[in-house]
Formats: sequence, structure tokens, C-alpha cells
Amino acid sequence: MKLIHTPKDIRDASRQWRAAGRRVALVPTMGFLHEGHLSLIRLASEQADAVVVSIFVNPAQFGPNEDFAQYPRDLTADLRLCERAGVDAVFQPEAAQIYAADHSTWVVEEKLSQPLCGESRPGHFRGVATVVAKLFNEVEPDIAVFGHKDAQQVLVIQRMVRDLDFPIDIITAPTVREADGLAMSSRNTYLTADERRRAISIHRGLNRAKAAFAGGERNAAVLRQVLVCELEQAAARIDYVECVSRNSLQPLMLVDQPALLAVAAFFGGTRLIDNVYLDI
Ligand code: AMP
Repeated sequence: MKLIHTPKDIRDASRQWRAAGRRVALVPTMGFLHEGHLSLIRLASEQADAVVVSIFVNPAQFGPNEDFAQYPRDLTADLRLCERAGVDAVFQPEAAQIYAADHSTWVVEEKLSQPLCGESRPGHFRGVATVVAKLFNEVEPDIAVFGHKDAQQVLVIQRMVRDLDFPIDIITAPTVREADGLAMSSRNTYLTADERRRAISIHRGLNRAKAAFAGGERNAAVLRQVLVCELEQAAARIDYVECVSRNSLQPLMLVDQPALLAVAAFFGGTRLIDNVYLDI
């Protein structure tokens, strides 16, 4: 497995693979890898012949009062996991390699990045879209794999790829969960034992709402309330609970089209997100 630090070196490696007829997959991550990331890597290996995992805690997608400095990092463990998973190259650039001191060009998706996390994290999706566009230009992959756990991110990236003509297929992977249902996340490591127990309310609430939907409930306010109740019982601080169209991310009154029930909630200082699809 190659460990590569510069955009030039990863582009050279990728071009060599592609010249040899190999299909290249990119799995963008912020590191501190867990089974969720590994599921993306496995999917990438199934669909391509060379897998690049990028590990970059992207400062541009964190707000001024967010956890950029504390974000968990463990490159040694990440490299071991990637090696074991059969990854061909890990691309781990320094921030200075990615953002020039006078960097001044940004990719802004203007519709899908507005609601949900876009509202509570201004500038977040500008940072995400910009870094993903740069990674696409640096790695030049044939395909890139993203997780449904960040459902809004998937939609923003798909829109960017379509609107800016990136010749890259976006592949998506389902959310991997802990045994009790908590969505795996590098940020779960911040949770105290008590917060960790209470955080299960997210999955419980989403599941109950999904069961109500399967039982015929189509009123979005009712479905939201099922989840809100669970979160309130667990003393979570709700950032948002929204039932939205899966095409536009606009709120629905009635779930009469493919929908997303999405949540962001704080347990202590830790903000967790999760979602379920509601399909007719
Ligand atoms: P991150 O390192 O958190 O930026 O995530 C990198 C990629 O892994 C993104 O495409 C995420 O959606 C995906 N991902 C994160 N957590 C999970 C999970 N529990 N299951 C599946 N994919 C995940």
C-alpha cells in the first residue's frame, strides 16, 4: 500500500493505474476509521481495481466554534485498517498542500446545501463541496463512494458532479451501526458513558417513526413527533428533526414521495446526525 502526501504524487499513481486499464475508486474520509468507512472501502474494491482512501480533516468544513482541533485522529490505526482492507493508496495531504495561504476559490451548491445541516452549520457544505472537487481533480477517480449516514452530503455531491460535469460515478453505501443501533461515527468517541446510552434514542426514534410510516402514517408532523418524543425523553438537545423530500430536501407535510427523516441532536457537547429513508 502506498502512503502519498501530495496531490501530484496521487495524480501520478492514479494516472498510472488508469493507463494500465484499472478502474480507480476514491473513498474520501476524515480518518479515525471505523466499520462504516470499511464498508465503503469494500464496496469500492468490488466496483474498481484500485482503491484510494483519502484521509484529511478538512478545516474548511468546520465552523469557528466547532471541533476541528479536537477531531479524533489516529493515522497509525487508520493505515493498519486500510492495509488490511487491501487499499492501494492512502492519500493523506497536509492542509497546506490542499489550501494555499491565499486560497480564494470555492464550490458553492446553492439549493440542497441550504436546509438541515446547512442551516445549523453555515459554510459547511461550501467546505465539503470544495474539498471533494479538489480531491476529484487530484485523484481523478472513475468512481467515488459516500455513505448515506451523511445523506445531505451525498445529494450535494451528486448535484455538484452533475452541474460541473465531473466524469465520476457516485456510489452510495448504507449506514453501518453499532450492535444497539447507534450509527457509527468518529465523533461517537466524544460521548461519555451516559451520553452514549442516551444517544440510542436517535436510532430508537427513527425506527419508531419508520414503523409508524410502514403502518400507514403519512403525516410528516406526526412522524417527526415520534422521533422528537424519544429524543426529549433522552434529554437530547435537538438541532433539527425534519421530514423532507429526498429530491429537493424541502419539508413535506404529507409523505407522498420518497422522503428522508433526518435528525441532528446534541448529547452533551457532541452533535450527532442520522436519518432513515421513507419509501412508499
Ligand atoms: P467522515 O470520515 O465522517 O467524513 O466520513 C467519510 C465517509 O464515510 C462519508 O461518505 C460518510 O458518509 C461515510 N460514513 C461515515 N459513517 C458511516 C457509517 N456509520 N456507515 C456508513 N458510512 C459512513
